[in-house]
Amino acid sequence: MPPAPELALTLAEMHLQGWTLKGSCRRCGLQVRVGVPGLIMVHGPDAIWWGKDAPCPGWDCAGGRLIYSARAVNGGTWTCVSTTRPRQELLDRRSGKAPDLGPR
Ligand SMILES: [Zn+2]
Repeated sequence: MPPAPELALTLAEMHLQGWTLKGSCRRCGLQVRVGVPGLIMVHGPDAIWWGKDAPCPGWDCAGGRLIYSARAVNGGTWTCVSTTRPRQELLDRRSGKAPDLGPR
């Protein structure tokens, strides 16, 4: 099953799922492997990476954005993390605003 916010919302959950994360820049074509443990060290295990992008670290790249993608297994489908936003319901459930109704 390709990555989705329903499977792993936070960085810690992505790490538990064993997903591979990469960043790529459409402006300069740079591709970087992103270590989930490294992100956890900087941003904390509860950070939500869905909907996030970052400035491109490319030396000669002005204004490019690093777009993140994740895949669950080698050869699997890449899911774009940066353009996928978790459903509000998922976020509410996590922040305790809505009661957890359990699996439906
Ligand atoms: Zn770039």
